[in-house]
Amino acid sequence: MAGAGKQHKITLDESEMPTRWYNVVHDLPTPPPPPLHPGTGQPVGPDDLAPLFPTELIMQEVTGEQYVDIPEEVLDVYRLWRPSPLFRAHRLEAALGTPARIYYKYEGVSPAGSHKPNTAVPQAYYNARAGITKLTTETGAGQWGTALAFACAQYGIDCEVWQVRASYDQKPYRRLMIETFGGTVHPSPSELTAAGRAILAEHPDSTGSLGIAISEAVEIAAQDPSTNYALGSVLNHVLMHQTIIGEEALLQLAKIGETPDLLVGCTGGGSNFGGLMFPFLREKWAGWMNPEVRAVEPSACPSLTQGTYAYDFGDTAGMTPLLKMHTLGHDFVPDPIHSGGLRYHGMSPLISHLYETGEIGAVAKPQSECFAAGVLFARTEGIVPAPEPTHALAAAVEEALACKESGEEKVIVTALCGHGHLDLPAYGAYLEGKVTDTGWDDAELQAAVAEALTRLPALA
Ligand SMILES: *Cc1c(COP(=O)(O)O)cnc(C)c1O
Repeated sequence: MAGAGKQHKITLDESEMPTRWYNVVHDLPTPPPPPLHPGTGQPVGPDDLAPLFPTELIMQEVTGEQYVDIPEEVLDVYRLWRPSPLFRAHRLEAALGTPARIYYKYEGVSPAGSHKPNTAVPQAYYNARAGITKLTTETGAGQWGTALAFACAQYGIDCEVWQVRASYDQKPYRRLMIETFGGTVHPSPSELTAAGRAILAEHPDSTGSLGIAISEAVEIAAQDPSTNYALGSVLNHVLMHQTIIGEEALLQLAKIGETPDLLVGCTGGGSNFGGLMFPFLREKWAGWMNPEVRAVEPSACPSLTQGTYAYDFGDTAGMTPLLKMHTLGHDFVPDPIHSGGLRYHGMSPLISHLYETGEIGAVAKPQSECFAAGVLFARTEGIVPAPEPTHALAAAVEEALACKESGEEKVIVTALCGHGHLDLPAYGAYLEGKVTDTGWDDAELQAAVAEALTRLPALA
């Protein structure tokens, strides 16, 4: 065929887009421990969550059904950018001289430039349908705020975002994008909430954290019956919405007759990782394939590899239910590394549970190694990745180089969960040699986590 060369891009037609999300809870060998009410120590019920979330999302949070149909009104918005492409990284492979075949599922084609709209859109939809007129949320790097502002605009509801002060100051373009989509942005900590005022009274120069921003957004939503709260990661329903990534990738790999040997993804709260991995884990448990699944986190915020598996709050002020997860302690403030989306003290309970039960592995990477992989990727594949997925790329590169040594033709699949067009100052810092690596002394970190956990309410 004229012009037929290497196939770089494996696409699906709109008509081939999956119409159901996959709920991994249905197929787990053992169920994950439930969230607990901090006051009673009992599992939280739907009534406890009703001040913050609409009924349909609460049901999705607790359902044991294997699949949930995606509403037509959501599919219609997804079709603006989905199905997203799967690429074979031929040029990266050539640069590495590896016999491995590397594939990446690219979520940077979305309106926000990341995977976040996959859940922002259904969350805004279910809230709007329940008569909610405003959603509050937190944002770190700004990707979640951007996604939610876009999603709220689709269904005609307001969006108010507390952005971590450090990013608010360093990343004005994210704020402008949120405002362009119609959202309102406050730097966090702010004077608008009791949680924010308490932090500012003690630390007037606080640069904020995701945990503090969550406390502020939750506080505002809890006070107003027409306002709800939306979380961009961590919770079961969020990871379920992201499974459209993995369902599409399965179809794309099947089209070219490939099965993965290794799946790698970056983990902040675990949503892009779970979204890619869960459908593959289902196939693995069914005996159709046997890939190794590996999470990659930053050395500066190593919740899986160095955190403790325990009940902890999802936020700093202690307003959320207690979640059984890998945590660095709810008041942990990581160093201001460039991957803002990976600076969260905890990890999704589902991902934590899968790690604990040995279904997935995890490694931590220092950011300079990740930027090196990101720059190599940009120069070979032509996409500047967001700093977060460069963690997964660094692990993919490491594996591909090991294949070069061993001669193994492994099939490696990763989620390139966002582009880095608004993260160019971070690349600038790297190119100028100004990116430094921080890690944690294990004993010191364990002591700090243990100390933070003593400040939790006693559980019955
Ligand atoms: C938010 C974000 C992350 C981290 O969140 P997860 O829930 O772990 O996926 C990673 N990458 C990008 C591009 C993000 O926007």
